[in-house]
Amino acid sequence: MTEKNLSEKITELRKKHGLSQKEFAAKLGINAQTVSRWERGATIPSAESLLAITKHLNAPSDYFFTASETRLPTEAPKGMESLRELYRIGRGPSSSHTMGPERACKLFQRKHPNADRFTAILYGSLAKTGRGHATDTVIQSTLAPTPAEVIFDTATAVPHPNTLDLQAYKGNDLLGTQRFFSVGGGRIATENGTEADAPILYPLTSFSEIAEHCRTKRMRLWQYVEEIEGNEIWEYLAEVWQTMQSAIENGLHADGILPGGLNVQRKARYLHNLQHIDETAETRENRLVCSYAFAVSEENAAGGTIVTAPTCGASGVLPAVLYYQKDKHRFTDRQILEALATAGLIGNLIKTNASISGAECGCQAEVGSACAMASAALAELFNLSFDKIEYAAEIAIEHHLGLTCDPICGLVQIPCIERNAVAAMRAINAVNLSSFLSDTRKISLDNVIVIMKETGWDMSHRYKETSEAGLANIQI
Ligand code: SF4
Repeated sequence: MTEKNLSEKITELRKKHGLSQKEFAAKLGINAQTVSRWERGATIPSAESLLAITKHLNAPSDYFFTASETRLPTEAPKGMESLRELYRIGRGPSSSHTMGPERACKLFQRKHPNADRFTAILYGSLAKTGRGHATDTVIQSTLAPTPAEVIFDTATAVPHPNTLDLQAYKGNDLLGTQRFFSVGGGRIATENGTEADAPILYPLTSFSEIAEHCRTKRMRLWQYVEEIEGNEIWEYLAEVWQTMQSAIENGLHADGILPGGLNVQRKARYLHNLQHIDETAETRENRLVCSYAFAVSEENAAGGTIVTAPTCGASGVLPAVLYYQKDKHRFTDRQILEALATAGLIGNLIKTNASISGAECGCQAEVGSACAMASAALAELFNLSFDKIEYAAEIAIEHHLGLTCDPICGLVQIPCIERNAVAAMRAINAVNLSSFLSDTRKISLDNVIVIMKETGWDMSHRYKETSEAGLANIQI
């Protein structure tokens, strides 16, 4: 929320109740000058004052922090970053709640090497589900051995749902303070938007432009990635693929209960070994693909090493599809890397033009995006046309529109793990459908990406990684 918006909302609420500034102030037990300063944007009310206003004027508790206040930037994108910024190798369970804050802490620590203590204040979704995602543990271990106090501020209105303030102290002296936003996929931004930005490599930012470029130059989408990123990208994607395979294999060998207190049993191994003599080929495919998605997602939930594809929470979809198809069709590792490049382009388009953050746009932005990436990867492996690749990715997003992010207890476990498995199967279905019907499609991938962003904007923040509604209300 910007200060101006906050001012406007206070004025609007006061006038709705027919109160003068003086009468309004009297209700709150403060003086009229304070109200005047709030409404002019000269000062910002404290969290307690905002709560008092909603209480005294019977406004909903989320009045000052609604979806409309957490809108994403609307300016046209200048270009796209490297796929290295999308596929990040790191530890789970959450790209926005663990990887992003970790990166912010490292940057801040480098700026303040002489600090003898830090304070981290978490707001919005970071405050509401940070404990379940182990955000506090990650912050403290990143800043160690310097001690860090972590404060969960669930009341103060902030401009982004994943906002983090870091403060550095030496004795009683404040050495510096900086605000960061964890914007999904482990990426961070700052208030001036420059410090944490990665360089722009790709000048084209829509599928239609990229496809046109590729048609003109008679190249596949993965060749466009190579054209932009150079040959070095293959070495990086090989590391990505190796990490994805290790996550599957580690997950298939692990047993026991996942951490966090929900007592969720690991199921990947069980699912993988659950073979029946009379099992049909379709059932076998379903079981194996799902077991691979469970394996990665369970590794993620346990804090294991995974690849954001495009996020930690959605990290099981793409590897599951590729791992199964590689085995089934004997694709080479080189073909898998090319499919990863194409999938990365799709993920990059969504990241650039909409969002890959559950806190910004709900699970449609995480698992929906992962499903689109997996669909495009599989279509690339099958050497399908641009139209069919586009249609497969479009189907995948279209049928995730409106998907909420409401993890129980803020843990990336229920519904996240199962959801990765369902999305992996859906990606395979999307490619099958696109191979039959692409000539009849009416909606472009670029269109549906914009629709996904708008849908995410319109969703209540209660369904965007705050654990305030939906499944998160179920007592287990
Ligand atoms: S519900 Fe979806 S977006 Fe939310 S944490 Fe789980 S996987 Fe991520």
